Amino acid sequence: MTSLALLGADPAFPAGVPFVRPPAPDLDRVVEILRPSWDRGLLTNGPLVREVEARAAEMLGVPDVVAVSSCTTGLMLVLRAIGARGDVLLPSFTFSASAHAVAWTGATPRFAECDPSSFQLDLDDAADRAGGVGAVLATHVFGAPCAPEAVEALAARHGVPVVFDAAHGFGARRGDVPLGRFGVAEVFSLTPTKPLVAGEGGLVATTDDAIAAAVRIGRDYGNPGDYDTQFVGLNGRMSELHAAVALASIESYEEHQARRDALARRYRKLIAGIPGIRAQAIPDTDTSTYKDFTVAVDRDRFGVSRDVLRRALAAEGVDTRCYFDPPVHRQTAYRAAGSGGPAVELAVTDTVAASVLSLPIYPALESESADRIVEVFAAVHDHADELRTRIP
Ligand SMILES: *Cc1c(COP(=O)(O)O)cnc(C)c1O
Repeated sequence: MTSLALLGADPAFPAGVPFVRPPAPDLDRVVEILRPSWDRGLLTNGPLVREVEARAAEMLGVPDVVAVSSCTTGLMLVLRAIGARGDVLLPSFTFSASAHAVAWTGATPRFAECDPSSFQLDLDDAADRAGGVGAVLATHVFGAPCAPEAVEALAARHGVPVVFDAAHGFGARRGDVPLGRFGVAEVFSLTPTKPLVAGEGGLVATTDDAIAAAVRIGRDYGNPGDYDTQFVGLNGRMSELHAAVALASIESYEEHQARRDALARRYRKLIAGIPGIRAQAIPDTDTSTYKDFTVAVDRDRFGVSRDVLRRALAAEGVDTRCYFDPPVHRQTAYRAAGSGGPAVELAVTDTVAASVLSLPIYPALESESADRIVEVFAAVHDHADELRTRIP
């Protein structure tokens, strides 16, 4: 039985294991890609941005991709383009930016439950809460597809559009279909913790020409080119510098994805042997990006709570996150959402949020480190009685 740093042993990782090490592309390669634009004085929204859009459209198999300054901006511009008004239905178990985009467009987030196994939008609960909404916004949580065709069917029953927050999902597939084609638009993030990196950036994928056109104009203040702004737009452009980083990142995308896949398979296999720990449920036919590898801790079966496990891992030098805890409906910005009344009751989401733990998963993480991290899980389970008496 391995002993634990939390109980006085030496830490397993004296040098520490960071939660994330963004796979920044080679700087010389970035400069090489950037130089032609730079030398011509083209610093924003130029040929490199066009190239990112074309490459992404090809990789995702969609007719049109519009590059923007962030996923949040992209979501705001799409919601504005579809004229989302009133309430927009979305999960609370997502990143705050999903709800922020709704609120910034003047609509009101209406939160629904998540599924306790997949952590995705719970379609039955969503159906119960969907009456009168103006649109649906669903997140592909942790890079796994959120049954997008079922979300589309739900929205269709209410005659409203669906937008997907695909921040985590560049390269994920629902069956054989890459994310990017579902709903009226899917919006990807290129911030450093996501699978494809631009530094900051977002990609709006859509099969709808009118939405693509509105997002293109919208990222440029609403200006179609003659300075007669068509609606209240934003500066949501991507710079050539960011586009150069994105293009260099695309070159190593497959290698990095393969590495995350291998680590996820390893984690999944090893964790299966530990009572009370289960990984996010993902159908065998779907492909996740594994932007995050997230487990749920069943305190009764595992022996200690998620928080004690997290402290034990921290004592060993392993940095983790509790994505998404607090869930959005519990955050200060939304606690009194809607008409200023009391926060919505989302008991399943509260339970899931209190049980989740996201583990380090990135190309530079050694397989042996993943193995060792799961050994810590096993040791915590083995020492559960002692931990319960010694750790408050
Ligand atoms: C990261 C993230 C965003 C925001 O992406 P930005 O590019 O930083 O704006 C939105 N939604 C989810 C689910 C995210 O994880």
